[in-house]
Amino acid sequence: MPTPTKIKAPLTKITRFADDVFKLDFAVERKYTRFKPGQFLHLTLEDFDPTQAYWPESRVFSICSAPKTNTLSIIYSVKGAYTTRMRDELVEGGEYWLKLPYGDFIIEQLLPEGETAVLVAGGTGISPYVSYLEQGLENGFGRHVHLAYAVRSPERLSFDDLLSRTRTTETFTQRVWCETDGAEDNGIITDSGPLDLDSVVADVANFPSPHYLLSGPPGMLATFSSKLKTDHGVDEQFIHIDEWE
Ligand SMILES: Cc1cc2nc3c(=O)[nH]c(=O)nc-3n(C[C@H](O)[C@H](O)[C@H](O)COP(=O)(O)OP(=O)(O)OC[C@H]3O[C@@H](n4cnc5c(N)ncnc54)[C@H](O)[C@@H]3O)c2cc1C
Repeated sequence: MPTPTKIKAPLTKITRFADDVFKLDFAVERKYTRFKPGQFLHLTLEDFDPTQAYWPESRVFSICSAPKTNTLSIIYSVKGAYTTRMRDELVEGGEYWLKLPYGDFIIEQLLPEGETAVLVAGGTGISPYVSYLEQGLENGFGRHVHLAYAVRSPERLSFDDLLSRTRTTETFTQRVWCETDGAEDNGIITDSGPLDLDSVVADVANFPSPHYLLSGPPGMLATFSSKLKTDHGVDEQFIHIDEWE
């Protein structure tokens, strides 16, 4: 596992999906993107003095760009004081300190070879899966992968391009829920309403040894995890949660 590094990176692009959901792209040297899909980075709004050990206040975000490229991307939703500051203070062209890679929500290491990965994502919870999907599209998945992704409104649907490309992959299936109707969705949305866990379980019933990976709002994770165990008899070893708190 690469040792975490601190880097100052130019913020090249801010993409706004909704008033409270933004994607940030940072330009970095390729050597800094040797993370494992599913890992996260620290972002600080403060200046950092590399000659000092002290790392200022920061927040962590799953990396949602492909490894071994020249870009590091994150998606964040505005929740509390710090992410509100991010919305107000971050500017394209500015340079910001990042620290990475961290975390053990690494799909390839969590699942035995050939067993099914069921990626369950609510909103920005899709982030840790994006780099895994990008890597799988390039090198093959070596297992069946099913994505169950839910957004509150069509404009919050991120990674349309990625989700169009995965649709044509043989070992990949997906279902995308949207709670409200709205703008053009490129045909990616398949279901309306909130994510229906019973349908997810039925969708993957015939694939070998489904492992449920859960990422999203803490309330959703707790509900889904307990429902998988009590309603569907899924053993704990087949449930993996990306804890965001
Ligand atoms: C592994 C992981 C991955 C995550 N990935 C994403 C992601 O991809 N997208 C996304 O939107 N969110 C992600 N989060 C959540 C994100 O890091 C923030 O916690 C969340 O956005 C809360 O918003 P806030 O910081 O504005 O809230 P705030 O109200 O500012 O703080 C929320 C919490 O941060 C902690 N905190 C408070 N002060 C400090 C401090 N000085 N230093 C460190 N922590 C402090 C406390 O637990 C506090 O309750 C992730 C969290 C984790 C743990």
